[in-house]
Amino acid sequence: MRHYTRRLAVITFFCVVPYLATTQNNRISFWSAGNSENGTISMECAQQARIFMNSAQYFPEPSNWRFVIVCDEFTWNRFTRESGQFQPRVQVYAATNLDRRTTFIRGWHLTHLDLTMGAPTPERVVAHELAHIILNTLDDDLADRQAIAWLEAADLPVLPFFEKPTPPSP
Ligand SMILES: [Zn+2]
Repeated sequence: MRHYTRRLAVITFFCVVPYLATTQNNRISFWSAGNSENGTISMECAQQARIFMNSAQYFPEPSNWRFVIVCDEFTWNRFTRESGQFQPRVQVYAATNLDRRTTFIRGWHLTHLDLTMGAPTPERVVAHELAHIILNTLDDDLADRQAIAWLEAADLPVLPFFEKPTPPSP
């Protein structure tokens, strides 16, 4: 993880982002191969952060949490490999480290809908990670059940728009 510190641009949006302007002391930072040393972020990172926060506002907010939006696929692939999250046959959209109070979000997936059958919507990814945090669990099934309950309560799609719910058997 050492060489990520060079790329890390910590941006706080306290003035403009309601999600972070609460007293919960959460912050968002960005990892991107394209980040400049002076801390500016790309349009792509900013767009991903907007989508993340738009989704997160519907769900319970943690406190003292760090969210890292990994803005490009090169950096995400590197992150998953170096952090041991890489799985050859499974798409990884986010990762939460409860001990370090840090959640990593695959930014590209927030702005590019994954059309693979069964792939989660961006809202579901955000809800799922927040469920890990709020329930303080690494159990994926538990987190996903909570995420679905939150999505349904907020009237947000649980499945991608092109996927029809399985009809009940006759
Ligand atoms: Zn999970």
